[in-house]
Amino acid sequence: MPIAKKAASEQLRRLNGLNFRPMDDVAVTEITDTLAQVANSSDDAAEVVSTWLRENVDYPKPSQLIETARRMIERRKSNGAPGGCSICSYTGHAPVTVAQSDTVLEYVRGVRFCDCALGLWRKQKWQERGAA
Ligand SMILES: [Zn+2]
Repeated sequence: MPIAKKAASEQLRRLNGLNFRPMDDVAVTEITDTLAQVANSSDDAAEVVSTWLRENVDYPKPSQLIETARRMIERRKSNGAPGGCSICSYTGHAPVTVAQSDTVLEYVRGVRFCDCALGLWRKQKWQERGAA
């Protein structure tokens, strides 16, 4: 479930200080679309961008963002995250249409979780972070 291009664009702004940012808006749009496609939430997009910033000094190519997102998913699996379900496309994040029982707090932060095992696991991790 891709995120809004605006949300992806906001995360990509964090990369503007890196070397070799494309001068051509079409190229930047391509990269924005790629991030929007590989991220299932704003949190995902932020994590992909944070990972890129920690490891690189050059602006990413679309293929590199895809690879960074793939590694993020692998890392979660190795951290003991349970499998997801087809409703959340194995992300743990619920599509908006099935998230009506979420709390106001979750809504405000823009995070919605699936009712499956992965969703509950992610929700717990999210709550632990929020409490810290
Ligand atoms: Zn699910």
